[in-house]
This record gives sequence, structure tokens and C-alpha cells, in this order.
Amino acid sequence: MSSSVIDFLATERRLGTYNYEPIGVVLSRGEGVWVWDIEGNRYLDCLSAYSAVSQGHCHPKILAAMVEQAHRLTLTSRAFHNDQLAPFYEEIAALTGSHKVLPMNSGAEAVESAIKSVRKWGYEVKGVPDGQAEIIVCADNFHGRTLGIVGFSTDPETRKHFGPFAPGFKIIPFGDAAALEAAITPNTVAFLVEPIQGEAGVIIPPAGYFTKVRQLCTASNVMLVLDEIQTGLGRTGKLLAEQHEGIEADVTLLGKALSGGFYPVSAVLSNNDVLGTLRPGQHGSTFGGNPLACAVARAAMRVLVEEGMIENAARQGARFLEGLKDIRANTIREVRGRGLMLAVELHPEAGRARRYCEALQAKGILAKDTHEHTIRIAPPLVITSDQVDWALERFAATLTQDFS
Ligand SMILES: *Cc1c(COP(=O)(O)O)cnc(C)c1O
Repeated sequence: MSSSVIDFLATERRLGTYNYEPIGVVLSRGEGVWVWDIEGNRYLDCLSAYSAVSQGHCHPKILAAMVEQAHRLTLTSRAFHNDQLAPFYEEIAALTGSHKVLPMNSGAEAVESAIKSVRKWGYEVKGVPDGQAEIIVCADNFHGRTLGIVGFSTDPETRKHFGPFAPGFKIIPFGDAAALEAAITPNTVAFLVEPIQGEAGVIIPPAGYFTKVRQLCTASNVMLVLDEIQTGLGRTGKLLAEQHEGIEADVTLLGKALSGGFYPVSAVLSNNDVLGTLRPGQHGSTFGGNPLACAVARAAMRVLVEEGMIENAARQGARFLEGLKDIRANTIREVRGRGLMLAVELHPEAGRARRYCEALQAKGILAKDTHEHTIRIAPPLVITSDQVDWALERFAATLTQDFS
């Protein structure tokens, strides 16, 4: 049996596929915004499993729903009905104002499912000639890790030696509505885009971008597919990030926080007949829509609303952002964020963000670097003002250190 941090790391390195480079902390317990390592050290979680644990670690009500359902029924497959699926549909549709729901498991599966459905819609409703459907995506996108998805990534690391890739995708710059207008052809079926690019380093598009995008998509009968897997469910201080510009996507993708971190649950939501084109036998998933997933997701959505987490994300996000902006450190190039989706971009001369994350770890904060020079900050949405202030003191102390 492994016991020390060194042992755990060595065993992972020996037996595991080396496709991650985690911060050297081995966690064994979590509660709310806090996690504890195997030595009993406590950390404020400023990553929240890439926003999947928005409701806080081991939320008692989601836990209770999961345990209760696990005792009753966990999996039926979609060969039979189960008594959790219909209530899940009703609640997610009511929460998001959607008309059709397709339950899946991982975020990448939701993206793949959306790609399949908008193509089908394109051929059967829009009238695009078979095999000619085009989907427009953005540079620096992150939509998951399946072959279909990495094929339209612009990150060489993500794509290299995984090809050949599927055709049918056109890449334009993010935040550039004129580029979208120029890229649309009669065969364009959809524009797939993140409201804020998370993995790219919390990149917020210019104000008015999505209003223009919505107009262009409507004018050309192109489905606007918003990947809200990271931005959705309160992360940016609104239920959906699209609400910041008062628009509505045709297809919305949710995942991550849809289960509060207990279980992989994702969903494709559509406001029109996109999902209506799918017929029995044409798409599915053994685990998609299973009763355990539905019970967990129902509880995860309920606590998000009942416990005011979305409003709290707006309030604490503003406090966190202001606090970060007040830090006077020549290591900082830019601070940006919306709600509790925040990032500190360092000057290249300040050294790698990874070292700052390690220094934060020593001070009791877990945050994750992205793209060499960016520290991303996304605590659970249950964070309090005192905890934000506690975190800010430690960010200030760390960012004024010089590691270069
Ligand atoms: C995390 C993420 C995904 C992929 O979700 P997985 O559950 O890891 O497959 C897709 N899109 C966005 C925007 C994400 O942040």
C-alpha cells in the first residue's frame, strides 16, 4: 500500500499514463471550498475541478440524493424508462428555458452529440447537400478530447499525431464577428463557440460580440451552439453566460457542474427542432440519462438555485476581481474575469505560472496554471467574502514574490 506523497506520485508515474502533470498534492477529503491532503493540510480550492464542483465539495444535499438513489436504482439503460429521467427533463428545461434535452455523460460527448445533431438538422431541415455540412469554430477553442473535437483544435499539442481528422470544420478568430460573417456559406449548419474561452485562459470577447453573432446566425439560418460546459450553471454570475448579452443560443451544452462533481452528467439542450431530427437507433449512450445521473443532476441544479449560488458568484466574483486588481505587483500583466471565472496573466519575465501555483499551494491555496503565464481562479460558488479576502491576502503575497 502506498502511504506517503512520494509513494503515490511514484506509483502514478509507474503505472498510470503520463497524460497529466498535477501539482504535487495528494487530496483525500473535501468539504465546501476546502480540500485536505493525506497529511491533513487544508487548502482553498481555487480550481473546483475546472468548475465541476461549483456547488462545493461533497455538498450534503447532492450526496444524500446520490446515496438515496444508489440504494434504489442506478442503471436501466435507455431500453427501459426510469422514474428519474422525466423529472430531470422537466427541471432542466424549466431552469434553462429549453424545449428538448439529450442527456449524455462527459462534456466531450455533449459536444459530439451536438455536432451530430446540427449536421442532421442541416441535411434534413436546412437542406444542405449530403456530406457538405460545415461547422464554424474558433481558434484557441477547447471543447474536449475526442477525435472529432481535437481535429478542430488549433493547439498543436492537442492534435499532433492523432490524425487523420474529420473534415467539415472551419476555424475563425474568437471575438471577431466580421470573421464569422465572412466564413458563413449556404452549407454552414452551425457556429460552435464558448461564451468565454476557459482553457485558453479566460478570454472574454468584446462587448456586443454575441449580440452580433446571434444576428448573423439568425440571418443565415445557422445554429448557434454555445458550449457552456464551463461557463454555465452560475460560474459567470448568471445561470448561463449567454444572459450577459441577453441572447439565446439554439443549442446549449452543459456538463461539469451539472452533477456538482459527483458523477459525469452532461446535456445537450435545444430551443428548436435540432434535437427533433434524432430518431430511435440514431444516437445514444448506455449511461446517458441513467437514474443515478438524473437524481444527482436534479439535486445539483436545485441547490444551485435554492442556496443562491448564482447571485453569490456574481457578488464574490466582483469582490475577487477588484481585490486582484488592487494588488500592486510588477509580475501582473492583466487580471480578468466574470463572476467566479477569473485569471491572472503574468508578465512573461515573471517566470512560469506553475511556480506561482506551487507557491500558492504552500500558502494553502490550490490554483492551476494554464498556457505558461496564466493562473486561473475558479473557486466553488459557495465561497464567502471572508474566504475571498483570505485568498486575496495569499495571492497578494505570492504575486509580489519574484521567481524569475
Ligand atoms: C471541460 C470542457 C469540455 C469537455 O468536458 P469533459 O467532461 O472533460 O469531456 C468541453 N467544453 C468546455 C468549454 C469545457 O470547459
